[in-house]
Amino acid sequence: TDMPAETDVAIIGAGPAGLFAAFQCAMLRLRCVLIDVLPEIGGQCAALYPEKPIYDIPACPAVEGAQLIARLDEQIAPFAAPRLLGHKVESLSGQRGQFVLGTDKGASLAAKAVIIAAGAGAFGPNRPPLDGLEAFETSGAVQYYVRRKAEFENRHIVIAGGGDSALDWALALKDKAARVYLVHRRDRFRGAPESLRQLDEAVAAGLIEKVVPYQLHALRGQDGKLEGVDVIDLNGQIRTLEADVLLPFFGLATDLGPVARWGMDTARATIPVTPSTCETSLPGVFAIGDVATYPGKLKLILQGFSEAAMAAHALYPIVHPDQALHFEYSTTKGVPAG
Ligand code: FAD
Repeated sequence: TDMPAETDVAIIGAGPAGLFAAFQCAMLRLRCVLIDVLPEIGGQCAALYPEKPIYDIPACPAVEGAQLIARLDEQIAPFAAPRLLGHKVESLSGQRGQFVLGTDKGASLAAKAVIIAAGAGAFGPNRPPLDGLEAFETSGAVQYYVRRKAEFENRHIVIAGGGDSALDWALALKDKAARVYLVHRRDRFRGAPESLRQLDEAVAAGLIEKVVPYQLHALRGQDGKLEGVDVIDLNGQIRTLEADVLLPFFGLATDLGPVARWGMDTARATIPVTPSTCETSLPGVFAIGDVATYPGKLKLILQGFSEAAMAAHALYPIVHPDQALHFEYSTTKGVPAG
């Protein structure tokens, strides 16, 4: 699609919330452009857990991250909303009815209203402080997101961390891998009771070896080829684990990045909004999904969907000041042509 110089609504972030906002805008016949710094749509679902099933999307008993995004993509396909992928929005200026956005690649876009669906911001994994880490990251020996389980067939895998991701991936890879070590600095893991039960079972069956209480200490190998991971306990005792791959799961660093400089109120990497409209403290700028906060906020995909609908309806008068918006069901009006 050709990139227009101006649009009704600029949507910053093409995660689930931003994608569904594009649908809601299109249903109200508002033009929109989706912008994301990542080369692919889908936000956290696509980048962090494409193969993990999600169980709490209404009417989808189980849907993998990548599948959910494919379905959202299908739902907005009729509207052919332009996408600016691989662009980070750096600047936002102007006011309600006439904003201008600028990206790191020098593109600019005029928009009457803005929806910020930036999730955890320009997110990135927390990296362990290990010497020579970069070479192993480049070669893929150290990975922070599991994209394809098949890659781990018959490998020796060291998984580090004590939360849901470490636990879930240890369980998911235990039958594929030659060996799974689970390294954590305590002998307590944080996860769903059912996952903790499965962990005990897998440990008893010899499918996963818990290496606790240990921390990552050093990487062994050369030219990006990993041969082992040294771990250290509280007394300074070092143990070497044979490893082809290290998967550290130490959480995501959340940083609003440029968004924090656009003049709206922010609070600890989130943007407070009026709950009934999702408008931020900057009139004409709305925030939805993980980045938006208000009392009682749940950081769930379904919440982002509902906020997308609220924001699209609330911003309609900015684009069409002289037209009353009559609320309609999608069953009544159908999907308008793009
Ligand atoms: P995101 O998905 O974070 O997308 C935001 C997008 O904005 C990103 O693509 C980012 O690149 C982009 N962006 C940010 N800043 C800029 C900028 N300045 N310029 C351009 N682009 C920008 N939720 C559930 O409801 N159920 C679950 O079972 C569930 N499981 C999860 C499991 C894991 C392992 C993780 C990590 C999360 C899980 N979540 C789950 C949470 C869910 O993924 C998030 O709530 C959801 O992705 C938030 O969607 P979003 O669209 O608000 O933001």
